[in-house]
Amino acid sequence: MRARFVAGNWKMNGSVRANGALLDSLKAGLKPSDNVAVCVPFPYLAQVSAALAGSAIAWGAQNVSEHDAGAYTGEVSGAMLKEFGSRYAIVGHSERRTLYGEDDKRVAAKFIAARRAGLTPILCVGETLEQRERGETESVVDRQLDAVVAAAGMAALADAVLAYEPVWAIGTGRNATPQQAQEVHAFVRGRLAGALTILYGGSVKPGNAKELFAMPDIDGGLIGGASLSAQDFIAICAAARR
Ligand code: PEP
Repeated sequence: MRARFVAGNWKMNGSVRANGALLDSLKAGLKPSDNVAVCVPFPYLAQVSAALAGSAIAWGAQNVSEHDAGAYTGEVSGAMLKEFGSRYAIVGHSERRTLYGEDDKRVAAKFIAARRAGLTPILCVGETLEQRERGETESVVDRQLDAVVAAAGMAALADAVLAYEPVWAIGTGRNATPQQAQEVHAFVRGRLAGALTILYGGSVKPGNAKELFAMPDIDGGLIGGASLSAQDFIAICAAARR
């Protein structure tokens, strides 16, 4: 049986004070057996690594440069993330793809850079509402995966984490139904290595998490808004327990 995994994506939220309170609550409310990570803004990695050291909660970043070092103003390398104890880096989040113009090729380069630094990439894929309505969900996800497989090789996906995040469900309060998500997860699993961890992301809340995680090919969640509330995030992590 594949282990369940829940990752929080804080996006561009937080403050030293608010993070401290949130992390204290997570440490108190989660079980050592919960397989959980928080992906935080770069400036908070030092705070998070100090607060979570010795706990069972892992941490990571929401982005990583495709380059290792050099004249790339404003960028952050995988080695830097590693220095602060990061285990994960989200790559290809739809907000990066749409707001910052990250195309499939760049996402693939970031995926490779994360692995090169010893990080586990959490690779996000997913279709827009228009693409879904045109019946293009599988071809869009296929194209996004293809770019990574072509650049990194199929074997590189086996120990990565994939997150299916329909763009229309992110931050909208409108989650994919468990059946809609399961269909895409099964498609992705069929196309890639069978044991791959595949998370669902998009308006996961305490009220819908259990149903989503009960689907055979959904291995947990990538949680945005609800990861900022200790109570909600702990409830979602509890829903992932077997
Ligand atoms: C996300 O940011 O990856 C996400 C899934 O956001 P939300 O849970 O707020 O929809």
